[in-house]
Amino acid sequence: MAAATLYGRPGSAPAYAIRDFLHRSDIPFEWKEIRSDDEARALGLESARDRRLPLCVFADGTRMENPTIRQITEKLGWFHDPSRSEYDLAIYGAGPAGLSAAVYGASEGLKTVVVERWAIGGQAGSSPKIENYLGFFGGISGAELAERARDQAIRFGAEILLAREGVKGDFSAGKRGGILEDGTKIVARAAICATGVAYARLQVPNEERFHGAGVYYGAGASEASLCGNEHVVIVGGGNSAGQAALHFARFARKVTMAVRGESLKNTLSAYLCDRIASTTNIEVLTNTEVTALNGGDCLESVTLTNRMTNANRTIHTRWLFVCIGGAPHTEWAEGAGIVRDEAGYLVTGSDLMNGGYPPGGWPLDRQPYYLETNVPGLFAAGDVRHGSVKRCASAVGEGAMAVTFVHRYLVDG
Ligand SMILES: Cc1cc2nc3c(=O)[nH]c(=O)nc-3n(C[C@H](O)[C@H](O)[C@H](O)COP(=O)(O)OP(=O)(O)OC[C@H]3O[C@@H](n4cnc5c(N)ncnc54)[C@H](O)[C@@H]3O)c2cc1C
Repeated sequence: MAAATLYGRPGSAPAYAIRDFLHRSDIPFEWKEIRSDDEARALGLESARDRRLPLCVFADGTRMENPTIRQITEKLGWFHDPSRSEYDLAIYGAGPAGLSAAVYGASEGLKTVVVERWAIGGQAGSSPKIENYLGFFGGISGAELAERARDQAIRFGAEILLAREGVKGDFSAGKRGGILEDGTKIVARAAICATGVAYARLQVPNEERFHGAGVYYGAGASEASLCGNEHVVIVGGGNSAGQAALHFARFARKVTMAVRGESLKNTLSAYLCDRIASTTNIEVLTNTEVTALNGGDCLESVTLTNRMTNANRTIHTRWLFVCIGGAPHTEWAEGAGIVRDEAGYLVTGSDLMNGGYPPGGWPLDRQPYYLETNVPGLFAAGDVRHGSVKRCASAVGEGAMAVTFVHRYLVDG
């Protein structure tokens, strides 16, 4: 049974944000498009343009008009302040790396808190089907995998603070403190940064205007069933774009993949290449990039340009999914003196060594542990780390491994 019904205008960005959050959180919900003033009035609103949309009605009758994600987490009983003045371990990011660190940290007796700015699952949470994760031969949706991991972490006693964003580090007094966007301070003896990467932008005009109103980032697991009989455009040639194309092809009339490179074979796993080649409603355009986004309130069409011939083609669509990889958001680390590489990834362990010496300011006799940043007791795991393998299983492995070094740090310094 649906836990909530969400009403909103087609192409509404705030409604998309709520759908995405509920889907990633594995909360069953119904989405109802409000297209006419009559439909809006039946809900007690003035018109289909009423600012109280989107409207979320929960199964217990609670009605939330144009709610924020934080208000929804409060309604679900998921919004908390930290319960302790000090933890053994604070983890930032609840993607596969952070959730894994939470399971291992809490199960091994560390007082553990996880801070997540959005919903659990990270990038994996937007994947319709992860097929290469050990033990799930038939694949598993990222949202389900994340929900299982969350249950596991909570059962072991980890505390998860959702809809909270770490914005600053404070490493004074030997603690690994984190300041959240509302000023809340998390104090811990050790910390793991598992904040992953955020989706890269196309860098074309109108992109922010249409974000959530036709332009989406990631594989759009929450949106696929809404694209029935429509033309969907997916940008990117990597595995996440390939997965998205196959998933949308089950619902959409036609899927066009716009790929910058010469061939999918250079960037896509062979099993996905084969499946795409044999799916009749997927079209692959290589040497192609998006050069314009057109529309009024919502996206109405995209212009694709062939990089070799400069020929343009316009596709009428309300659905553009951008899966072109990501970049880490680690600006906070720069202010805190954490070493990053040129692209912003956190540098750890032996990568910090220069000519056999640790980085300047390193205060201990030992060298940094594997996964440890240049601040002792502050570790990085998963996609945010310089040199990491961008895979679910490796993020999970690094989360677990980071906890081993946290123990070592807490005992030996
Ligand atoms: C669509 C898609 C499909 C994929 N499919 C596969 C697959 O089939 N197999 C596979 O092996 N890999 C797959 N990947 C890659 C895999 O999902 C990633 O490698 C993995 O999720 C990385 O995990 P992570 O925990 O390091 O980071 P992320 O998953 O990026 O999680 C980071 C988390 O940190 C949070 N965060 C960021 N900043 C802050 C902050 N300041 N404060 C608090 N929280 C913060 C984010 O909201 C996010 O939840 C896919 C990726 C995508 C996008």
